[in-house]
Amino acid sequence: MSLLVVGTVAFDAIETPFGKTDKIIGGAATYIGLAASYFTSKINLVSIVGSDFPAEAIAAMNKRSIDTAGLQIVEGEKSFFWAGKYHNDMNTRDTLVTELNVLENFDPILPDSYKASEYIMLGNLTPSVQMRVLDQLTEKPKLVVMDTMNFWMDVALNDLKEVIAKVDVLTINDEEARQLTGEYSLIKAAKIIRGMGPKYLVIKKGEHGALLFHEDQVFYSPALLLEEVFDPTGAGDSFAGGFIGFLAATDDLSFENMKRAVIYGSAMASFCVEKFGKENLEGLNRGEVNARVKQFSNLVQFTTDV
Ligand code: AMP
Repeated sequence: MSLLVVGTVAFDAIETPFGKTDKIIGGAATYIGLAASYFTSKINLVSIVGSDFPAEAIAAMNKRSIDTAGLQIVEGEKSFFWAGKYHNDMNTRDTLVTELNVLENFDPILPDSYKASEYIMLGNLTPSVQMRVLDQLTEKPKLVVMDTMNFWMDVALNDLKEVIAKVDVLTINDEEARQLTGEYSLIKAAKIIRGMGPKYLVIKKGEHGALLFHEDQVFYSPALLLEEVFDPTGAGDSFAGGFIGFLAATDDLSFENMKRAVIYGSAMASFCVEKFGKENLEGLNRGEVNARVKQFSNLVQFTTDV
């Protein structure tokens, strides 16, 4: 099944307790596309970069069968830039810099070959751009998943709520769910968010895993206990890429399969955080991904007499 991914393609500067990087390749769509590429080979990327973005980074995406016909390159302008610093617990971070640059005037134009994509991943990006992508689709997609972050709640809340009303699944982290609803309890927050439109909600809790809400059901996936966590950047996007990539590949939208998708998403996030940036997402194989999914299953399996 074809998967359309929109989101930032960016430069990031990251500081964690284990080290610091200068500008490296990042962006929500970069992580989503790479993570999804382990499940489906028809990935249509919609994004924008400046002429400062290296051609090799685009070639690396093409190598993982990400179609970049929908990636606009603006001559003489700069790519989106984000800098962040993680606290000692690695679960929380401060955004130090967000330079929108090319994103400021981004009008996403979908190539004709993208317009009937069946699975849509609205990665973290300006909400009005996410909406413009939905408006250009010529067929009703099978599933629309959306990710966002606190930055857009601060600067474009109304636009954000309009997009949330149109999607099937929202993925968001716990603090953002609380900010969006004003509720501390995640159960109450989940109810409010599902009332805004999405039938499914994933609340990501960093090293404490992820929750999937649907009607009166809740499913919990732990995060894998890892010996080394170098850089959590992109974990949420890798989760989203694994989640929707698995759903697009299996083309099964039952709750049981959504649960599996949450585990595959969590597996991709676990690979992402083991190295800086996107490094660990480029050279995996499906056997390694499946082995990691098996570790999740072992982690939570138990028998009971009750
Ligand atoms: P995550 O760690 O999953 O939240 O994603 C981190 C990625 O999101 C980085 O590679 C950034 O380039 C990108 N990013 C940071 N801020 C924003 C923003 N406001 N909108 C879109 N993407 C962003």
